[in-house]
Amino acid sequence: MTDLPRAVRQAMPLAREVAVEVAKPYGVCIRPVPLKRLDTHTGRWEIVDVPCGATLDAKCPSCAKRNRQLRRAQCREGWHLDHEPAITPDEPTDDQRWLVEFRADLQARRDQAASLGQDTADWDAAIEGLDVEINEAGMRGNVLGRTAPKRTRSTKRRQDAPNLPKRRMAATTLGRTFTSSDGKVYRPSLFVTLTLPSYGKVRDGVPADPETYDYRRAARDALHFSKLVDRFVQNLRRVAGYDVQYFATVEPQKRLAPHLHMAVRGTLARAEVKQIAAATYHQVWWPPADEVIFDGDHLPVWEDGVGYLDPDTGLVLPTWDEALDQLDADEAAKPLHMIRFGDQIDVKGVLAGTPDADQCIRYLSKYLTKSLSDSLDPDNPAQRDHAARMVEALRFEPCSPACPNWLRYGVQPKGAKPGMTPGRCCGKAHKPDHLGYAGRRVLVSRKWSNKTLAEHRQDRRTWVLEALGQPNETPDPHRYVWKPAPAGDANVAPLAIRLLRSVAERQRWRAHMAQLQAQADGQERSATEKAA
Ligand SMILES: [Zn+2]
Ligand SMILES: [Zn+2]
Repeated sequence: MTDLPRAVRQAMPLAREVAVEVAKPYGVCIRPVPLKRLDTHTGRWEIVDVPCGATLDAKCPSCAKRNRQLRRAQCREGWHLDHEPAITPDEPTDDQRWLVEFRADLQARRDQAASLGQDTADWDAAIEGLDVEINEAGMRGNVLGRTAPKRTRSTKRRQDAPNLPKRRMAATTLGRTFTSSDGKVYRPSLFVTLTLPSYGKVRDGVPADPETYDYRRAARDALHFSKLVDRFVQNLRRVAGYDVQYFATVEPQKRLAPHLHMAVRGTLARAEVKQIAAATYHQVWWPPADEVIFDGDHLPVWEDGVGYLDPDTGLVLPTWDEALDQLDADEAAKPLHMIRFGDQIDVKGVLAGTPDADQCIRYLSKYLTKSLSDSLDPDNPAQRDHAARMVEALRFEPCSPACPNWLRYGVQPKGAKPGMTPGRCCGKAHKPDHLGYAGRRVLVSRKWSNKTLAEHRQDRRTWVLEALGQPNETPDPHRYVWKPAPAGDANVAPLAIRLLRSVAERQRWRAHMAQLQAQADGQERSATEKAA
């Protein structure tokens, strides 16, 4: 590319932008990942663009849109199921295998970047996104097979079960049905919205008085929100007496707190759901983090083979496990944090196939592609200030046992290593895009529709091909070997060219589909004419 005349080089970025604008209406991925693919049938290597949405935590608008459509299909499929989903043992699918191989490649690239002293943040983010995909594809744990031995906590620290009615568990994931006098069977389901409590009066999405608004509580609630959702599901199942399935999304409220929309299969009395939400809480049994012990220049120092020491006394700080042991031994210890829902709970009965159900499904996927901070109006100084205060409150909150912020409170983070500085954790939860909530935005229970997103993708392909009377052969899973295309690979064409190529392919495919459709229509017509 450096051989090109300067004027051409300068024109390149413009061409790229034009290509992006051309590609968007075609739903073509505008941030494709180039991969090298060996076709073992022909022995040829080729460069193939994989849509960013197939691999990473997609943000490209085309992939985001497709992802949203798939999520809607997934939500619709499970909500009003009238038969038990068949759960088969988790054989790793080819999709998973591909993801795992791809992850290994990314890891290699990341390590290479690290050894060259380059910034690895992008690689880390990509790998993290892939781990989520792999987990979603149904594999347990992370690819490296690291499974930490589970800590046995003293009984006193167990989460108490809240005071709720408990029904006998029936081995079903389906809800009750009701038969009307004319013999029609109804299968009602629920749409539940749960919010966090108030942290102070809010006007137009911003605190009326930022000085008294409880930012610390807001920060801790956001950090532990997903645990509270887990508890709610446990309690819901206990009270409902069957294996309740759900499809839920976590969305931002204007005041920047996460809240939850949940499609629940089957039904309970509205009052009962409200009672469950009110009784649900989660205690965070972490070491205390309210008293600052090390701050500014006065920070623990690392010593190889020993760990972090108090800079004044030279004493070794308690490790994460030691700190938890101390907590267990202390009769008077209190949890670091206790999280509950607020009283704004909304429970709605929904019937399958009604416009109401469709509206809820659209609602569930509405904010999927936005980050928690996207509801922010950048021109509103009060909102900007509110977001900045929230980020500041999160800055020194420990986001996980491994968070460097523990040093500030005199505890060695889990897996402590040199170079950790409080206030400089690179965990997602601290980032302005996440505002404390680093969990997944879509939560789908295992027996919802018994299908992963990849299977839904495959379904759509099958559906289209079948509708057109085309054979849907299963491709040979071992046909291709994938490798990353190294940065600067001369065989990878400039992005603008690759995008325009995808657009051309899409146009060809659409024309082909239209042609097949016309043929199918023609055959049908002649068949009807013959029959007549
Ligand atoms: Zn994309
Ligand atoms: Zn952190």
